[in-house]
Amino acid sequence: MKVGIIGSGLAGLSCAFELKKYGIIPTIFEKRSYLGDGLDYTIVTLRIFDLYTQNPMDYFGEKYNLSISPLRPLRKIIMMGSDKKTTVRGRLGYIFEKSSTKNSLENQIMEQVNLPILFDHSINIEDLQNDFDYIVCANANHETAKSLNNWTTTFSAHTRIATVLGNFKTDTITMWLNTEYAKHGYAYLLPYHKDKANLALTVDNISSHELDYYWKKFLTLENLQYKILESRDIESNGGFTHTLKKDNIYLAGNAGGLLDDFLGFGSMNAIESGILAAKSIVKHLDYNHLLEHILIDQNKKHKLRKVFNTFDNKDLNKLITLLGFPIVKQYIYNNPFYRVTNSPSIQTFYNHKIKINQL
Ligand SMILES: Cc1cc2nc3c(=O)[nH]c(=O)nc-3n(C[C@H](O)[C@H](O)[C@H](O)COP(=O)(O)OP(=O)(O)OC[C@H]3O[C@@H](n4cnc5c(N)ncnc54)[C@H](O)[C@@H]3O)c2cc1C
Repeated sequence: MKVGIIGSGLAGLSCAFELKKYGIIPTIFEKRSYLGDGLDYTIVTLRIFDLYTQNPMDYFGEKYNLSISPLRPLRKIIMMGSDKKTTVRGRLGYIFEKSSTKNSLENQIMEQVNLPILFDHSINIEDLQNDFDYIVCANANHETAKSLNNWTTTFSAHTRIATVLGNFKTDTITMWLNTEYAKHGYAYLLPYHKDKANLALTVDNISSHELDYYWKKFLTLENLQYKILESRDIESNGGFTHTLKKDNIYLAGNAGGLLDDFLGFGSMNAIESGILAAKSIVKHLDYNHLLEHILIDQNKKHKLRKVFNTFDNKDLNKLITLLGFPIVKQYIYNNPFYRVTNSPSIQTFYNHKIKINQL
């Protein structure tokens, strides 16, 4: 069986990892000449938003025999509104390295794949149609789904991510929610080491050339004066693919719309969808069905996003204050079973907000 994988990111590599277990050696095409995004950064998983019951390491280890390890646990979140601040502590999630460092998620999975990658190969579906039995599109781009008439956009955003120098607490993420510079997105500071961090701002529904204006406003309003080593602007589009498999083409990771449109997280979905695409190919299982738990979760996060899109700074400050109440902290952060998307209060709140907006 010949399988071609487009993209050696998290979804593509995870797909190769699973195929290899069944003795299938895929051909992996990567448009870049290296593994990763070209900018090293850190990402997080947050327990209260996570599908994965205990932690992603156990989840992937036990379910798929894939070993991943974080840089460190996340112990503290500082949430800043325009005039409110809340700090929460606990077992909040994990920080992972991303991109090309030795311990990045890509390199951790690559070590377990141990197959050649055809670098400097920018490939389209059509290039592979005649030569492969199956094509796994894992290029993080929604254009393929669009061209298959298979895509509805739900959000579009621009992010600037910078590497900054300073003095940081390595187990802490600081998040800013302020519509003046983030609109309905957010900004965050996530340390890499104690003297290096990523500072990022995501703004929804703007054009690429407007991002600089919002970035400067963010730095000015928050009085942030870090030395910036490098920065990169990234466009992301979230949405739904109506079917994740069309004929012999599989869409995995961001290419399949598995980037959530609430926080813009998609790393764990990318890994799992890559693995499940391989399982579907090998065992002739229904791919959409295999991904059902992720799609349900995506849908819940989408509803949450719709509520957040109605928030102004007053609402955000109220929310931040509410999240600081000891009883709420206890209920949300110290309860191992709490998941934002399973909370009935979200649905009630959502219905209430939608009703108000319709009046
Ligand atoms: C700044 C930033 C912060 C993030 N923070 C978080 C976070 O905190 N938590 C979280 O869970 N997620 C986070 N994400 C999202 C997460 O990184 C992505 O959802 C995940 O990497 C998607 O994996 P993927 O395999 O679909 O795509 P990628 O990992 O992006 O891989 C796609 C690969 O395809 C290659 N490619 C593209 N086109 C072609 C082509 N035509 N031919 C061949 N190869 C091609 C690319 O070069 C790339 O290597 C963040 C993303 C960014 C950019």
